[in-house]
Amino acid sequence: MKNVVFLLALEIALCGCGSQSSPEAPTRTSTAISQSSTATPAAGQFSGQELQKFIALEPIDTHTHIYRSSPEFYAMLDRLHLHVLDILVDDDTEPEMNDFAKEKRDAWSAIQGSNGRIAFCTTFDAYRFNQPDFARQVIRGLDRDFAQGAVAVKFYKVVGMEIKDARGRYLMPDNPVFEQIFKDIAAHNKTLIAHLADPDSVWKAPDPAAPDYDYLMQHPALYMYGKPGAPTKQQILDARDVLLKRNPKLRMVGAHLGSMESNLDELGQHLDKYPNFAVDLAARMAYFEMQPRARMIAFITRYQDRLIYGTDNEFYLQNFDTVQGWEETYANDWRYLATGGTVYYRGKKVQGLDLPPTILHKLYHDNAVKWFPGILQPLR
Ligand SMILES: [Zn+2]
Repeated sequence: MKNVVFLLALEIALCGCGSQSSPEAPTRTSTAISQSSTATPAAGQFSGQELQKFIALEPIDTHTHIYRSSPEFYAMLDRLHLHVLDILVDDDTEPEMNDFAKEKRDAWSAIQGSNGRIAFCTTFDAYRFNQPDFARQVIRGLDRDFAQGAVAVKFYKVVGMEIKDARGRYLMPDNPVFEQIFKDIAAHNKTLIAHLADPDSVWKAPDPAAPDYDYLMQHPALYMYGKPGAPTKQQILDARDVLLKRNPKLRMVGAHLGSMESNLDELGQHLDKYPNFAVDLAARMAYFEMQPRARMIAFITRYQDRLIYGTDNEFYLQNFDTVQGWEETYANDWRYLATGGTVYYRGKKVQGLDLPPTILHKLYHDNAVKWFPGILQPLR
């Protein structure tokens, strides 16, 4: 797979999770247009040979949102030998994600039909934080989900960016109201997926050139720029760090590079400082592709045990992600990570990283198994 050229679709989405209008993975709508007259474009789905190499990694995608299924979808999981983690999201700003009970039923149904290919990450309703007995009720629900096989719990950005108390102050991730819940998750040896804060541009003036501009315009509820009383991104991440310090036995996976996508130094310092912290790559591959190649290879090599592959692929609305789109995302991400071929990002040539098989196997498999015990179920 050398000297291969393909175009990464430019429609990248950088906010992640629960945004039907937000194409979160950079390659999901790839249209496979070659920019080169000298090389054969390799875009779209896997070639037979590529697929064999991908399968050899025993791939696991630790960041997906699946609330429906189809025979074609299951067939794709089988063809790619793929295991995925299905993450529930409770977000009252999204019409498709504010009916928690329905979402959960739909997710379970998809999981039960998957013959063991889909594992479950539950969540809880943080909007009820000021109700009496909040933590105890949440814990009761989580424990039920753990008993049914949930391997992780999602903690979502509406904490810090949307939910307010009776006095209008934003609820922050380190609010003591959550503490017993984190203790319970750690006691059950489950993992907390923390999607807290968002890309930097969410706190900046609208910039049509920003990759996530469209997402922000369509999701004003979670656009923090100019909002009175809104916490800064740093304040939210600092509150997240309080959790890491307070709960050294809690495994935390920071979704979307822990929202430190634009500062790899800061991300590396966090990984150095907090042994209970790892991050997923979901919907942030574009930020890797913007970095100098040698810098990315060095970073991934150094933190090869703490970076976990994920896409943010979604399967719940009829007109959004397609089965083919899922496969194209896997193929294009794999070409960037595993081959030395050339990809185009925003008209700029980017050479694939050509990472060694041992590191690739960690990103795609070993780290997922280590950070999400139970994610790999026997196939039925
Ligand atoms: Zn997501």
